[in-house]
Parts: sequence; C-alpha cells; structure tokens
Amino acid sequence: MSEELKKIVSLKKCSSYQSEALKQALDELLLPLGNWKGFVKPGETILLKINLLGPYPPERAVTTHPELVRAVARKVKEAGGKPIIADSPGGRDNQRRIGKILKTTGIEEVCESENVDFILLDQKVEKVKVTEIANPCYPYLEIGKEILEVDGIISLPKLKTHGFMKLTGAVKVLFGCIPGIKKAEYHLRVAERIDFAKLLIEILLKVKPRLSIMDGIIAMEGEGPSSGEPYPLNLLLASSDSVALDVIAAYVIGFNPEEVYTNAVAKELGFWKSLKEIEVTGEKLEEIKTTDFKLPQKDLFDSIPPALRHFLRNLTTAKPVLGYPERCTACLTCKENCPSKAITMKNNKPVFDYQKCIRCYCCHELCPEKALSLAYPFLSRIFGQH
Ligand code: SF4
Ligand code: SF4
Repeated sequence: MSEELKKIVSLKKCSSYQSEALKQALDELLLPLGNWKGFVKPGETILLKINLLGPYPPERAVTTHPELVRAVARKVKEAGGKPIIADSPGGRDNQRRIGKILKTTGIEEVCESENVDFILLDQKVEKVKVTEIANPCYPYLEIGKEILEVDGIISLPKLKTHGFMKLTGAVKVLFGCIPGIKKAEYHLRVAERIDFAKLLIEILLKVKPRLSIMDGIIAMEGEGPSSGEPYPLNLLLASSDSVALDVIAAYVIGFNPEEVYTNAVAKELGFWKSLKEIEVTGEKLEEIKTTDFKLPQKDLFDSIPPALRHFLRNLTTAKPVLGYPERCTACLTCKENCPSKAITMKNNKPVFDYQKCIRCYCCHELCPEKALSLAYPFLSRIFGQH
C-alpha cells in the first residue's frame, strides 16, 4: 500500500443492508482505495474483525450488521482470499455467552450460510512487547494469537458514540483483539482516558488492519456503545488509515475530531495534523455532516490537574446509575465485569461505590437490558453541552 493512499477516506451513501445495494456500494467505496485486489491476494486468510459487543439484535445498532459482514466476506472470497470472522466480546465469560451472542447478532447464520469460521479471540493469547508508546502500566500487550497469525485484517467497526472514549470507531474496535477476560485488567491498569486512548493506539500499531470499513448505515447516537439509539446515517466509510477514518467519522457526526480521545492521542503522536490533510472521496463532507446527531456530553474531568482528579471525580464526570430499575433482571453482568469491584448487589439490584469506581463504563456498556444510564454532575451539565 503506497503512502499516498494512507490518508484517503472513501465515503459512499447507502441506505440499505439489502445484499445488492451493499455489493454495489462496497465496490464503489473501495474504488478510490485501489479496489479489493489491493487488500486481498489470492490464497490469503483475511480476518474480519467485527464489533460483537454482546447479544444484541442487528436493529439495535450495537454490533456490526451481519449483512455487511456477509457482503465483505463474499468480496474477500471473490478476490481469492479466505475470510474468517473474529472478535472477543466484552465480558468475563465469553465462552459461555458466545453462542447466544452469535445467534442474536445474526453472525451465526452468516457463518453457516457463507461457510466461514468464527474465531473467539480468547483461546490463544500472545504477549507482544510494547515498543511504540512506552507505558509502565503495560510493558506488553496480550492479544488474541490468531490476529497476529493471519495474512491480513479488515476491520468492520460500527459507528457509535462511546461514553468513555467518545467514539467507537476504527481504533476503539481493536480493543476486541484483547481477550475478554483481560479487558477489565487493562481498564483497571489504565484508568485515565488519555492513557487508555494511548493503549488503543498501541493496539492499532500492533494489529495494523489493512483496511477498515465502517458501518454507518444505521449508526448509534446518544448513550453508546450499547444504550444509545439507532440513527440512520446511511453511510459507509472506508480507509486503510484507521485514524483518518475516525477523524472523518467524528467530524461527520458533529464532533470536533480532537474531542475523541484516540484522535487526540494520534494527533499528538503525529499521525495526522488537520482535516485538510485527509483526502475525502465519494461524497462531499459538508453535505453529509449531521447537525442533529446526539453526542455524549463533554466531560470536565480531563481539564482538571491529575493530582486533584480523585477528589473531584464525583463533581466533574458522569457516573453509572441504575436509571431504569424496572429493566434490571439481576443478571450480574455489570457486577462481574466491573474491574474495580465497585458494584455489589442489594435486593437484586446493583449498588455502586463511587469512591472505587474508575468511570470505565464497562457496566453501562455491557448491561444487556439498557438498565444503566450515565448521570452527569451539575458542573458537566452546565459546561459540558455540545
Ligand atoms: S443493571 Fe443490567 S447488567 Fe446489571 S444486573 Fe441489572 S440487567 Fe444485569
Ligand atoms: S462501576 Fe461501572 S464505571 Fe465504575 S468501575 Fe465499575 S464497571 Fe467501571
């Protein structure tokens, strides 16, 4: 892949997950990037890294739509490659939950009908030494081994908001390369958002997807990545540069791209300088930019000196609350996945210890019933509006 192609982001309007519409849209999307043959060589095994957060049906817009996964798997085959589908959903007990997740998300049917294997990236773990961004919190990364063994990776992120990182895009989706059981440990070790964003950039530099195709046909606004609302953005986005793709995606939904933590870190590290540095093809950026996409509120937490953050956390940053107690089924998912053990159950309902809570929002992200919401403190409500 030549250097010039790295900062091209291709956009294509597409308002349907119907197979013919997707097929045509994908071909047009890939044309400015060098077409499928630029990313898949005959005989290669190509791992499709999807977003498979939990057992959510496709219409909830939490996971990569199965018809997009199917369409890309077919394209890989047409180009002579062998696709495999992979992810490690969030949660401690992936082995037990994975059957339900695959079925509910529609990925099981895609695997069966397209004769494509699914790999849970929890089985074999490789320790990879960290060299790019030194951080004593994680001298090495633990990554699903298959990610490192395949010939190439195409990531298929869903375009969603994210309470912790602001955007679930082409960079954040790669956190799924860390085995499920290890994810909570990383959250605990790397509690600061900017540090967590550095961790994600570090994963990107190790995993190096050849191509990312973002599912923005039905995106998610509001309280993403799982409790927001579907938003028909009617857009596919693609690039061989994951950061450039996230910068454009962030801009399209109404962020200043640097508000997204991974974008800010990438800019600091010199991966991009300005929007003008990225060539956008296919659609006119100003014509597709939304004005009504609900973004997460701004958080005042990062403007506070680190030494004061522990004391001011409750005043400046959103906290998880049981916003919809009637929806809670006492499934324990939140408690079991809280890295700081800040959740106990009382009368079959979660109770939060906000002194222990590191605001990673894993509980909010993983609650299958949308029973949890984020409560923004008074100061954030005043100063944190978009
Ligand atoms: S809040 Fe959600 S994740 Fe926690 S116990 Fe209730 S339903 Fe389960
Ligand atoms: S209570 Fe929720 S937000 Fe707080 S540390 Fe636990 S999982 Fe993270």
